[in-house]
Amino acid sequence: MNRMSRRGLCLVLSAPSGAGKSSVSRALLEREPELRLSVSATTRAPRPGEQEGVHYFFRSVAEFEAMEASGGMLESAHVFGRRYGTPRAPVDEALAAGRDVLFDIDWQGHRLLRQALPGDVVGVFLLPPSLEELERRLHGRGQDPAEEIARRMRAARDEISHWADFDHVLVNSDFHETVAEVRAIIHAARSARARQPWLPGFIDGLLRP
Ligand code: 5GP
Repeated sequence: MNRMSRRGLCLVLSAPSGAGKSSVSRALLEREPELRLSVSATTRAPRPGEQEGVHYFFRSVAEFEAMEASGGMLESAHVFGRRYGTPRAPVDEALAAGRDVLFDIDWQGHRLLRQALPGDVVGVFLLPPSLEELERRLHGRGQDPAEEIARRMRAARDEISHWADFDHVLVNSDFHETVAEVRAIIHAARSARARQPWLPGFIDGLLRP
């Protein structure tokens, strides 16, 4: 084990739809060069502007299930009646190479990922300042029909009820402040003793008479 090499970590950023998760994720990826996004697989159809392999790997139900059956998914879940899952190989490779991986997944995914990768997951939950603000933001997107927004508001209440599963909980009232706080969480987690397996040897060297 080389001195200074560390195992990468998994940063799960979860939030109810509309709490600002996508903007915060984007800012983190721009500002943290060692952080890469885990691209999920899904059976839902692409939204306008979404690209294969960038936003999701868009798969048929049969393709998704084949990947799952062969052990190719770290975790998977049903969300809004569709399948979503995290492909395993890119995550395993990144962690072993000391790179960090950002996950834009829900509370179910966070719980399953913690089981799949014990000790590697740092969970951050973003809350909206209020439910009124959340609804305003969902309308502001102008992408989804009214019944979809009503469904997402119900889903938001459900998502919020799982806040206590997460290591860190932030109220996203100020975008820049939230990004700074999440970056501070990443930086602190990188220096955790358990992430630096080279330390015991280094300390031995320091203390050798
Ligand atoms: P959307 O269809 O709006 O992109 O995502 C719907 C929900 O699925 C979001 O709450 C998102 O966090 C969740 N999701 C996206 N990818 C994954 C994944 O790989 N695993 C799990 N468990 N949830 C995911």
